[in-house]
Amino acid sequence: MIVCRTKEELKKNLNHLRENGKSVGFVPTMGYLHEGHGSLLRLAKEANDISVLSIYVNPMQFGPNEDLDRYPRDEARDLALAETNGIDIVFLPTNEEMYPSKPLTAVMVSGLTSQLCGATRPGHFDGVGLVVSKLFNLVKPDRAYFGMKDAQQVAVIEQIVNDLNYDVEIVPCKIIREPDGLALSSRNVYLNAEQRAQAVVLSQSLHLADEWIHEAGLSAGALLDRVRSIISKAKEATIEYVELLHYPSLQPIIEDELLNGMESQIILALAVKFGTTRLIDNSLLSPSGGVQHV
Ligand code: AMP
Repeated sequence: MIVCRTKEELKKNLNHLRENGKSVGFVPTMGYLHEGHGSLLRLAKEANDISVLSIYVNPMQFGPNEDLDRYPRDEARDLALAETNGIDIVFLPTNEEMYPSKPLTAVMVSGLTSQLCGATRPGHFDGVGLVVSKLFNLVKPDRAYFGMKDAQQVAVIEQIVNDLNYDVEIVPCKIIREPDGLALSSRNVYLNAEQRAQAVVLSQSLHLADEWIHEAGLSAGALLDRVRSIISKAKEATIEYVELLHYPSLQPIIEDELLNGMESQIILALAVKFGTTRLIDNSLLSPSGGVQHV
């Protein structure tokens, strides 16, 4: 496994490995890797000749009062996990390497970034768009792997790829969960024991919604009420949003619209704080059939 800390090293090593038209699979992360990242790495490894992991806590996607400074980091453990998964190249740039000067170029996606996480994290998706564009230009992957845990991010990145003609296939990957259902997240380490136990309400409510969606006569508003009432049973939970939207357009569903038989794919998306820790989770619901991700 080759560890590159500069763009030059990355370019040199990739050019060397990529000879004879070998395919490159890319997994961008912020590190503190867990099995959710592990699943993406294995998919990238399996489907491509060369696998590249980037680990970079991108300051541009954090708001002024967010957890940039305390975001968990463990380089040695991350490198060990990458090695175990047979990754060929790990790109670990510094801020100076990624942003040698203040960028004056923006990658802003309208229509998909003012709702859900974009509403409470202004500028977040601009930061994601910029760093993913920069990383795509450096790595030039054939395929890039993103977790559906960040479903809005997947929609935004697919839009960028289509709008800017990036020659990369975006592979959305299913959410990996703890045995009790909690979606794996680097931020789960912030939870104390009580909050960790209560956080299971997120996946429980998504699971129930998956069944309710088929109930005749159930409206979007009624389903959202049920989900909110389950989450509210957790004493430490403060709901930021519980929303049903069309996916991937992220356009709203009218509250009194009936769900049963709805043709399009819809997303039930949650953001809930447990103490100061903000967790997100979601489920793609398809009233007229199931939805599969690799
Ligand atoms: P992060 O390091 O949190 O920026 O995540 C890097 C990538 O891993 C993103 O594409 C995430 O969506 C994905 N990811 C994070 N958690 C999970 C999970 N529990 N299951 C699947 N993918 C995940």
